Amino acid sequence: MIPFNKPFLTGKEAHYMYQAVYTGKLSGNGEFTKKCQKFFEEKYGFKKALLTTSCTDALEMCAILCDVQPGDEVIVPSYTFVSSALAFVRQGAKIIFADSMASNPNIDAEKLEALITPKTKVIVPVHYAGVACDMDRIMEIANKYNILVVEDAAQAIDSYYKGRPLGSIGHMSAFSFHETKNIIAGEGGLLAINDERFIRRSEILWEKGTNRSEFFRGEVNKYGWVDTGSSFLPSEVIAAFLWAQLENMELIQNRRKAIWEQYHEGLKDLEEKGLVRLPEIPVYATNNAHMFYLVCRSLEERTALIKYLKENGVLSVFHYLSLHLSDYYTANNTEIPNLLECDHYADCLVRLPMYYELKDEEVKKVISNIVEFFDK
Ligand SMILES: *Cc1c(COP(=O)(O)O)cnc(C)c1O
Repeated sequence: MIPFNKPFLTGKEAHYMYQAVYTGKLSGNGEFTKKCQKFFEEKYGFKKALLTTSCTDALEMCAILCDVQPGDEVIVPSYTFVSSALAFVRQGAKIIFADSMASNPNIDAEKLEALITPKTKVIVPVHYAGVACDMDRIMEIANKYNILVVEDAAQAIDSYYKGRPLGSIGHMSAFSFHETKNIIAGEGGLLAINDERFIRRSEILWEKGTNRSEFFRGEVNKYGWVDTGSSFLPSEVIAAFLWAQLENMELIQNRRKAIWEQYHEGLKDLEEKGLVRLPEIPVYATNNAHMFYLVCRSLEERTALIKYLKENGVLSVFHYLSLHLSDYYTANNTEIPNLLECDHYADCLVRLPMYYELKDEEVKKVISNIVEFFDK
């Protein structure tokens, strides 16, 4: 069976974890954490980078930093992972779900303005498959209405919008190092702050509501409880694992991109014949090869394709269910919007195996199985 995902180990993970363990600094914010954070700040120009235990955690920090209060509205695409909405719901926000574009699953910036009310506090663009949302348009609307922008860049490491790194454009952003992402730490995440106003408070939330970070830098002579917060920081063992991955980022990205190109080349005839749609990379976006997906013409066709591939030893998977139709949302909200593009992706999108160790012959096999399916 060709699996859908297989976590890739560079070989250095255990070595660095061993180092972290035997230097005796096991809690968070040690040398490996600092190295990882510096890497992100230098490579992508984030004003502040803080490792977290997950992207969900980083999004929760964003919701607190944006001072989301009960009744505030937060605009989130419906075609996304639960956390993009949940992190704000925990602060009491009302989620206003937005539809995807017809051409790709990202939030449709042209339909955004119609969703804004005086209560709108935050917009959460999600860069699906690591492909950028139209950030200039989103930032223009946000600035016009004085709304904060939190990029859910969980899938978007090392991807760009008009030459600018994703995660560096909104006021703040969140990344994931879950084992299904390009760069992994098992479970892990990153909060990136781009607007200086939020830096001081982000460190306090991160350190359980204390100003301990300032104390360690010698900026205050004692530290104590000054704000809300939680224990958002991961242990050094996690940071050590992550460091081994970051050192090999180029290697990982290059292999994933090669696999992506091979899929694209092998399947584009099917797209030309109008049988499937392949991922569209807008001119303003780069591709970080987080995912290769197809959009089938119907739910029935997708179900049959997944079944056919499975019978032939290939595991492919569908993705999100529309959040606006979820049990939790429908139980807690009376007005359920009609988001047809989102529902279409929920029914018709299928993801193909994508991982570093996937071999060229295996990619070929997946492609020929898909071609066979559509020939029949
Ligand atoms: C993976 C993912 C998350 C959650 O990341 P965790 O690190 O597992 O919390 C959030 N949003 C999107 C879009 C994701 O793909």
